[in-house]
Amino acid sequence: MAGNNNESVMEKLVSLCKRRGFLFQSSEIYGGLNSCWDYGPLGVELKNNIKSFWWRRMTLEREDVEGLDASILMHPKVWEASGHVSEFTDPLVDCKSCKQRFRADEIDGPACPACGKETLTKARRFNLMFKTHMGPVEDEASLVFLRPETAQGIYVNFANVQTAMRRKVPFGIAQIGKAFRNEITPGNFIFRTREFEQMEMQFFVKPGTDDEWFGKWKEERMQFYLDLGLAGDKLRFHEHGPKELAHYARAAFDIEYRFPFGWQELEGIHNRTDFDLVRHNEYSGKTNLSYFDEQTGERFVPYVIETSAGCDRTLLTCLVDAYDEEEERVVLRLSPRIAPVKAGVFPLVKKEGMVAAARDIYERLKKRFKVFYDHGGSIGRRYRRQDEAGTPLGITTDGQTLEDNTVTVRERDSMEQHRVKLDEVCDWVGRYLEG
Ligand code: ATP
Repeated sequence: MAGNNNESVMEKLVSLCKRRGFLFQSSEIYGGLNSCWDYGPLGVELKNNIKSFWWRRMTLEREDVEGLDASILMHPKVWEASGHVSEFTDPLVDCKSCKQRFRADEIDGPACPACGKETLTKARRFNLMFKTHMGPVEDEASLVFLRPETAQGIYVNFANVQTAMRRKVPFGIAQIGKAFRNEITPGNFIFRTREFEQMEMQFFVKPGTDDEWFGKWKEERMQFYLDLGLAGDKLRFHEHGPKELAHYARAAFDIEYRFPFGWQELEGIHNRTDFDLVRHNEYSGKTNLSYFDEQTGERFVPYVIETSAGCDRTLLTCLVDAYDEEEERVVLRLSPRIAPVKAGVFPLVKKEGMVAAARDIYERLKKRFKVFYDHGGSIGRRYRRQDEAGTPLGITTDGQTLEDNTVTVRERDSMEQHRVKLDEVCDWVGRYLEG
């Protein structure tokens, strides 16, 4: 077995992520900032690939979803209307002895989980929104919030998008962007952080058709995770019971994944009814967040089916799911679709003809894919490094290349090797990546 067996999978993953340049602790040289992480060179590629796969699936491949990129700072009334000012709270308890803080709903019994003393305060409601001030004067009037979800940017733009794009209900609006929550207990690496990215889509439907659309989106979203390559037996739906349902929701299912630390939510699929649009009509004093159906002559406020996924959490899930240890190597079996680097290109040894042929392949491939060239060290070591980075293909030029213009293409997972003609390598890689 490679690696140290005493370490948990999560510990091994955290160290691999640092070693290979996926994730670094934010402001590390100053001791780090709790729960904040920086994406390194491989991390940013992986994250961009996940986002573009989501974007492609949700917008480009569909005829009924538009894109949006709303600002993070919004009018403070948005958050009154949405209910976040009054409702977006967690119950917080403090330990008077060790001064640590906990979410009351996450602890059992009267004792402090850190020091064991029964010196916990009563639970009080703690609002998770980050506050800041806009402009030079820090008074109540200048108070703004960092958005705790991207969804509200979509609601307030419903009429803008519908009119500009001449959309008929049903249609959806999709958005990827940062959200901020002052979580009481962030943790498990990037699973729960205070700054994160969401991939959200609000689908506007005629009331009465909401259950049907809810069912369709549930299936669609589960398929997304399967197509990301995640193990089917580690995915499940969790239906919210009446006590779990958010104030705005009529029905909610989470898609959950079995992490090393238990089953946890990856994405929420909610039937938010007309709650948000009605509230924005009310709080803004306008009534334009509604829809006029030209065919029936009816005006109604659409119901909303929301699919709300976390980008960072999806990335963590892909890493956890892909991590594998074999006798001789650690390998990240990431789907080629999202792997940060698609192929490593290597001359077997540093000989002129082999180097030139490898450089030539690299130059051609890099116009289409993220690829990596390396001629240092033994070929075995170079393969291992790429296995650990999740690179699905290794392309090597060798003695035979100089004789018959073919190269070896090695698959990461099976370690199977194929002989491919030099001038067909680009297309071969393209076909492979398309699956
Ligand atoms: P929880 O109950 O775990 O706090 P939630 O139900 O409030 O989460 P939603 O508001 O439904 O979460 O957010 C939608 C998605 O956004 C989640 O499924 C998750 O993927 C992501 N997400 C939410 N909070 C965080 C966070 N603090 N860090 C990373 N991702 C998050």
